[in-house]
Amino acid sequence: MTRFSAWSVFWNGLTNQMGWKPQWRTPELKADYDVVIVGGGLHGLATAYYLAKNHGISKIAVLEKGWLGGGNAGRNTTIVRSNYVMPGNREFYERSLKLWENLSFDLNYNVMFSQRGHVTLLHSPEAIDAAARRYNTMRLTGSDAEIWSLEELKRNIPHLNYAADARFPIFGAAVQRRAGTARHDAVVWGYARAADKRGVEIIQNCEVLGVTRENGHITRLETSRGNVGVKKVGFAVAGNTSLLWEMAGLGTLPIESHILQAFVTEPVKPLLDQVLVFGVGGANFYMSQSDKGGLVFGGDIDWYKSYAQRGNLPIVQDVAECALSIMPCLGRVRLLRHWGGVVDMSMDGSHFICKTPLDNLYLNAGWNYGGFKASPGSGWYFSDLIANDRPHSDIVNHDLKRFERGHTIDERGAGPDPKLHG
Ligand SMILES: Cc1cc2nc3c(=O)[nH]c(=O)nc-3n(C[C@H](O)[C@H](O)[C@H](O)COP(=O)(O)OP(=O)(O)OC[C@H]3O[C@@H](n4cnc5c(N)ncnc54)[C@H](O)[C@@H]3O)c2cc1C
Repeated sequence: MTRFSAWSVFWNGLTNQMGWKPQWRTPELKADYDVVIVGGGLHGLATAYYLAKNHGISKIAVLEKGWLGGGNAGRNTTIVRSNYVMPGNREFYERSLKLWENLSFDLNYNVMFSQRGHVTLLHSPEAIDAAARRYNTMRLTGSDAEIWSLEELKRNIPHLNYAADARFPIFGAAVQRRAGTARHDAVVWGYARAADKRGVEIIQNCEVLGVTRENGHITRLETSRGNVGVKKVGFAVAGNTSLLWEMAGLGTLPIESHILQAFVTEPVKPLLDQVLVFGVGGANFYMSQSDKGGLVFGGDIDWYKSYAQRGNLPIVQDVAECALSIMPCLGRVRLLRHWGGVVDMSMDGSHFICKTPLDNLYLNAGWNYGGFKASPGSGWYFSDLIANDRPHSDIVNHDLKRFERGHTIDERGAGPDPKLHG
């Protein structure tokens, strides 16, 4: 496989770009594997990569029912941050952010990680107090965090609605400078290429249709390309987790599948250097500017359960209203397109990386709005769990039994309502 370097770019420029090879192979499904990861999104690919790289496991397959990146991996608004406060979450997301910081180098693929800063607007003195508590905790536990005064915010982002009589007047902002964005499909391709290079077999158009169990152990998966024998299986299917769980005969999960939409406007000149977040009460809106100039917007989930990868009009209105209320100068900018993805909302807003009632099945799920930034960390911790058959100390509470124990990991203190875990 071609190694990307300044020299290879230069050489291919001289030779009519004829020297590039396919980025990964297209193997046939084998009769059996040591580890099969179901789901070729970012979490599945990252897990396979770290299983091969960190744990030396070589007979690994990733089974993907469609094409790589066709799920949420290629549909998200690409925000990366680690401003979490709950024990376990903060260690997990900080490790993930550190992996992001070295990812292009590690994968030898430019994932366009841009640490442009993540700015959460604060709309009351109480919101400043709450943010100070969260951001001080982040600093005390080894992350970076700042609170900006109104003057500092105005200097950095001059185009916001600073009117004192605005519906939600702005008082300041909570900022994480190391946070930012990355190009989502580059991350998919980078992980796929690097995993393939280490021997992982990536099988696209291969849907898992059935699970054969014997005495609490999965022996075989039935797929649209034939049956495959397995020693260990990892589910990393995001919005489809409940379907696979049912296939394995395990009943129901504390997860609901909801649609989350993203929006992009026509390109405009550079207007916003940071990721900007606006949230008051249950409302949730975020915005950044892509390298092409389009403003990328995200809002709330569609508030009804669905497996359809498309959105609806009320959220379009909701998101447009939020955009205009914080940045009125966008009034004449046109929305170009919007799309939807199926997110797996857990009942406390936190994820699951855990063992399951079956001794060789491992679960990676419950990513809510936030699994893109989690991808490197998720792959790192999930591969560690699969290889060593025990959870790392940072994720011991990220299991399914935490609800039975009364140990929920509720970042927002919002209770068991997926709508409120944005
Ligand atoms: C609109 C939107 C905006 C978002 N914005 C952000 C953001 O800004 N920041 C952030 O951190 N997170 C964000 N997220 C969340 C993030 O994208 C997801 O949490 C994350 O991508 C989920 O992990 P994944 O990449 O592995 O999922 P996916 O890419 O969905 O991968 C799961 C894969 O499993 C495959 N699959 C399902 N069933 C089967 C089967 N039976 N057999 C084989 N394969 C199967 C699917 O085809 C899919 O490719 C957003 C999500 C959406 C929808």
